[in-house]
Amino acid sequence: MTVDAIKIVAVLGAGTMGNGIAHVFARAGFSVILRDVEPRFLDRGLETIARNLDREIKKGKLAEADRAAVLARLHPVTDMKAIAAADFVVEAVPEKLEIKRAVLQEADAILRPDAILASNTSSIAITTLAALTQRPDRFVGMHFMNPVPVMVLVEVIRALQTSEATFDTTLRLAEKLGKKPVAVNDAPGFVSNRVLMPLINEAAYAVMEGVATVEAVDAVMKMGMNHPMGPLELADFIGLDVCVDILHVLQDGLGDPKYRACPLLKKYVAAGWLGRKSGRGFYDYSQEKP
Ligand code: NAD
Repeated sequence: MTVDAIKIVAVLGAGTMGNGIAHVFARAGFSVILRDVEPRFLDRGLETIARNLDREIKKGKLAEADRAAVLARLHPVTDMKAIAAADFVVEAVPEKLEIKRAVLQEADAILRPDAILASNTSSIAITTLAALTQRPDRFVGMHFMNPVPVMVLVEVIRALQTSEATFDTTLRLAEKLGKKPVAVNDAPGFVSNRVLMPLINEAAYAVMEGVATVEAVDAVMKMGMNHPMGPLELADFIGLDVCVDILHVLQDGLGDPKYRACPLLKKYVAAGWLGRKSGRGFYDYSQEKP
């Protein structure tokens, strides 16, 4: 499948990442089949897309006149059979191997043999996912960053089985979305989480050991290293449970104890302090200003 042959894209999952991925494909002119398991998840995804398009119009990044056309290119479906016409598919269902296995195998059986299947997984090996399908050479990792319409990076991950043609098409496709793809080989955490999670973990250790307060650790990294967000603020944004899960993947996959999750992070997760999504993590989000 060449990049120019790709006209119809399917996105599996209309959650945080899926609606963002559908948004950028529709904005770039692709016809997008957005699939989730229940209409209410599709409705929520489409509402988010409409709100984010309005934000882009306000910022002058999208012409008001193009809004309706972008929305008209989105086709919400609950029936997996509706993705049969897709040339390229991005899977963005929850980060559980059993869910991904079921979804990928169902999609694989429905799609044309030449269609490419991509996963947006943050931490499951692309090589493992590729092996679950009958098209391992047409399987690739396409790791978008949250929030998808804003972040320019896409990590494009080559599984052991990914063909050069599939990899090249995926890199070019990311460029067509206005993104900057970076080529990465399949390894635990890819590059993004391999480098980011130890930073977040070390920041948590610094707090736990009383080296500095949460605010002070974030201030050092923002002012001293020019990071737009401090590591602890970023951890709250990502979700502390997600951070701990990814650290476990790094530790298991690389076998090095340096990746062991900081006990303070684990304690917060045990308390249900998961970050922004639960109203409390390193910061308290119950007030207007954290
Ligand atoms: P999410 O929970 O917000 O969304 C997942 C969606 O998938 C839900 O709407 C759910 O209803 C739907 N779903 C469940 N089973 C399905 C099925 N069988 N078919 C279709 N849809 C189904 O999760 P998310 O944060 O969007 O994460 C999705 C993927 O993206 C995960 O693999 C995650 O690791 C990865 N990821 C997440 C982030 C992030 O910051 N949230 C960043 C990069 C990658």
